[in-house]
Parts: sequence; C-alpha cells; structure tokens
Amino acid sequence: MPDPTAPGAHPALTTLSEEEGMFREAVQDFAQSEMTPRITSMDRAQALDPELIPQLFELGLMGIEIPEEYGGTASTFFTSILVVEELSRVDPAVAVLVDVQNTLCVNAVLRWGSDEIKEVFLPRLAADTVGAYALSEAGSGSDAFALACKATREGDNWVLDGQKLFITNGNEAGIFIVFANADPAAGYKGITAFVVEKGTAGFTVGKKEDKLGIRASSTTELVFENVLVPDRNVLGEVGKGYKVAIETLNEGRIGIGAQMVGLAQGALDHTVRYVQEREQFGRTIGSFQGVQFQIAQMAVDVEAARLMVYNAARLKDEGKDFVYPAAMAKLFSSQVAQRVSSTAVDLFGGYGFTREYPVEKLYRDAKIGSIYEGTSNMQLQTIAKMLLK
Ligand SMILES: Cc1cc2nc3c(=O)[nH]c(=O)nc-3n(C[C@H](O)[C@H](O)[C@H](O)COP(=O)(O)OP(=O)(O)OC[C@H]3O[C@@H](n4cnc5c(N)ncnc54)[C@H](O)[C@@H]3O)c2cc1C
Repeated sequence: MPDPTAPGAHPALTTLSEEEGMFREAVQDFAQSEMTPRITSMDRAQALDPELIPQLFELGLMGIEIPEEYGGTASTFFTSILVVEELSRVDPAVAVLVDVQNTLCVNAVLRWGSDEIKEVFLPRLAADTVGAYALSEAGSGSDAFALACKATREGDNWVLDGQKLFITNGNEAGIFIVFANADPAAGYKGITAFVVEKGTAGFTVGKKEDKLGIRASSTTELVFENVLVPDRNVLGEVGKGYKVAIETLNEGRIGIGAQMVGLAQGALDHTVRYVQEREQFGRTIGSFQGVQFQIAQMAVDVEAARLMVYNAARLKDEGKDFVYPAAMAKLFSSQVAQRVSSTAVDLFGGYGFTREYPVEKLYRDAKIGSIYEGTSNMQLQTIAKMLLK
C-alpha cells in the first residue's frame, strides 16, 4: 500500500500510519488488561491506582511528543490524541492524566521552555514525573486572566503567592506549570508562566474536590505562600504568560475533544453488546427498529465528532490554523459525549441507572467535557468571534 502519510498523499482522516496503528493497538491492550479491572474501584476510591502510573510511563504514553534525546517517544500531536481517545474509551479519568501531561505540560515546555528548562524537565516528564497545569483560581475561570496569584521579583528569584483551584493531577504531579501575575498594573500583560517543583518550600497541595465524574482523577487546590522560584524557571517571557496559556489551551482542547470521542465510543460499545443480549417481548431489544435507530444515531454522532477532532489534530501537526476547528471539535464532542452516554443509560433501562453497569459512570464522566479547558459558551464565543470578525 502506498504510504498514506507521504507528501502529496491525501489519506482519509481516519487512515492511520503504521506508527499510529501500533500505538492504538498497544493502548487498547493496556486499557483492556490493566485499566478495565480497576475502573469501578478507582471511581469509588476517588483515586488512581498508583500501579497504573509507572505503566503509562513504560508504554511511552507520558512523553509522546518529547524528542528521543530527552527520553521521549518522539511522536506527533495526533498520536497523543489517539492515545487519549483509546484510554477514554475505557476510563476517561485515567485518560485526563495522560491528556494534561502531553497536550498541556509537555506541550508548553517543548514550545516555550528555554534549553535549560528542556534539559532539566523533559527527561523527568518522559521518565517518571507527572505534570499539572495551573491556571484557574477561585475568581478566575472563564475570565482566565483575572488572576490573583502574584509573582514578585526578589533578586534572581520570583516569589509566588496565591491559590489555584481545580487543578488536575494535583495529587500525582511533581512538576507544575503555574501562571501568576508579575505586574498586576499591566493587566493580562503581567501574566507569567513558571515551572514549580513539588516540595518547593511554601508550596502545598490543598483540598481535593469530591466530583460528579472522572472521580479517580485528582482535582485539587494549590497553595503558594512565599514560594521562591528561580528566574530560570520562567517559561517563555515575563509578561507573555497569557500567550503560553492561550496557545497551549488551544491545542489542549483538541485533547478534551478526543477524551469525549473515546468516552462516547465506549458508551456505544457497551450498548451495542447489551442490546444484543437483553431480551424483552421474547426477543433481543436490539431487534427492535426503534432501538436500532437510536444505536445508529449514536454511531453517526461519534463518527462526526471523531472526524472533527482528527481534522483539528492533523491541522495542528501540519502547522496550519486549527483554532476554529479545535473549538468546534471540543464543543461538538462534549455535546456528543453527553447525548450518547445518556442514550446508553436509556438503552440499559433500569440497569443503566445502577452502578453495576459501566454506562452510569460514563454518563457522569461526560459532563466535564463542556466545562474544562473552556466551557461550551467560551467555545461558542471563539467560533462566533472568528466568524464575525
Ligand atoms: C474536574 C476539573 C478539572 C479541571 N482541571 C483544571 C486544570 O488542570 N487546570 C486549570 O487551570 N483549570 C482546571 N479546571 C478549571 C476549569 O478550566 C474551569 O472550571 C472552567 O474554565 C470554567 O471556569 P469556572 O469554573 O470559573 O466557571 P465560570 O467561568 O464561573 O462559568 C460559569 C458559567 O458562566 C458561563 N460564562 C462565563 N462567562 C461567560 C461569558 N462571557 N459569556 C457567556 N457565558 C459565560 C460559563 O460558560 C459557565 O456556564 C478544572 C475544572 C474541573 C471541574
């Protein structure tokens, strides 16, 4: 077969290169054998099984775009998207750990890190250290640049003060990308990104949220009290942190799109199996045309969302504009995940409403897709702004 990725070739969006196909298979095997048995217990315990995390590193899933010289997998953004999709098909709570690592933390360090930052942090992110991305605060969510966290210059250091809220991987991370304002009088032009290590004096991980969905993923507060961060840990330029945030989140939200596509595919997989087993009126419920049409609609929704996500990811890898399709992909996939997981619960009937069957968890997990990395209203705002400018 001709190489579908050769220049000039126009493969279908869903045609995978050999490397992409191998990644997908490896992740599917891992998700089935290692994640499936742990889904329910991790959801109940509201914690990831610590045994899973080293396995994610061993499989090369935590440094997908990190070059080989730093110990990474040296693959593409699209591969990260595929990995997040396949993990989410089984457990979106595990997937978000991998998503934040690759599409936000590693991405930001690769793009904005000085040579020194790359040399110090990329090998750790590839080998054994989880990353977190800390922008949101109690008073700063959709209005992401209304940060109260402050950075004050002190000799060769910066002193961070303030609190972050809702930070994914807060309990597992060793490396945190933290946004603070170094010049509040300059408004968003004071925002600066810093790399902060766990264990730095004055930095503590606060309360963990008790959530509706993705319960195994930790979402925590971070507290900074007189935290000394060396100047060399500034990511990008002082006062340009708003660019770091906007641009990494533009890419990151394709990952959330992939999480939602995987989740919806998982809900569809469970439902296709169930309707062919469950009998009512002396026949399987899947033999009723009404049910068949619901299943067909779920499949169409999932496929449409997947194509949008893949297109945005492939545009990003090609260095083309992707912000508009990425906002659409994130918005639509989160709508699809909610719709498809809801129909899945309907088709499982009363059993779907219980914790004994997997679709109840996916229905709860789906809700976060329309909230984090920009709410649905924020995606609509981006889309409208680009249409009407
Ligand atoms: C589980 C979880 C994990 C998270 N992980 C991270 C993380 O790792 N790092 C991080 O930095 N943050 C993280 N967040 C924070 C997340 O990105 C924010 O919660 C999100 O951006 C929304 O902000 P908010 O909660 O302050 O809601 P608000 O901004 O208060 O929004 C509330 C409602 O008002 C609407 N709204 C607000 N402004 C407008 C407007 N101008 N026009 C129309 N509608 C508007 C919103 O769409 C929403 O419906 C996480 C949150 C959760 C719940």
